[in-house]
Amino acid sequence: MLLQNERAEVVWVCQEMQRLGLVVGTAGNVSARVGDKVVISPSGMDYALMEPGDVGVHDLEGNPIDAKYKPSSELPLHLAVYASTDAGAVTHNHAPASTALSTVVDEIPGTHYYSSMFGGLIRVAPYATFGTDQLAINVADALKDRTGALMANHGALTTGPTLSKAFSLLPYLEYICEVQLRAMAAAPGMAPGAKIKVLSDELMEEAGAGMRGYGQSK
Ligand SMILES: [Zn+2]
Repeated sequence: MLLQNERAEVVWVCQEMQRLGLVVGTAGNVSARVGDKVVISPSGMDYALMEPGDVGVHDLEGNPIDAKYKPSSELPLHLAVYASTDAGAVTHNHAPASTALSTVVDEIPGTHYYSSMFGGLIRVAPYATFGTDQLAINVADALKDRTGALMANHGALTTGPTLSKAFSLLPYLEYICEVQLRAMAAAPGMAPGAKIKVLSDELMEEAGAGMRGYGQSK
């Protein structure tokens, strides 16, 4: 089977997103780019029943190369990300904290240094109907020099050189959003004039540099 490993990885990430509560039902979609081909999850398929052969292969214009089913309705979004970045994979979900926060801010404030993992403060792409070229344009803009973005009134998206790398960022993005929401919920009860503390650009940059060298060295 063409790109069997990548197709199997798409299935695995879809099932993991569901297991971690990052999507409801068949929401969300996942893709990887290999050369001039894109493997992407099919539209509206039960993740528990999905098999590698159900994942389609398309070219960078969206034409099917080897696909049994209709691709995710967000194929244009994934293609726009590949056209405007060097990402090798895109994961998209509708997790509750990301989606809730996308309705109240245009950029996630620097309340947690994990934002540095995404290349800087995470932007919120303006709302456009799902599956449209306008949404694809808005998200590609929001992703400039970033590996994550929120999509207003919709969800979240991460990119990476590989599918597992892109997917590994999704729970961090959801965590950052959850922290911001809780801080905002607590803020009205604080002393008058009190504000949520945010990190300076300099501190965020320093954390980013530290995060890049964090963990076990190989
Ligand atoms: Zn979506």
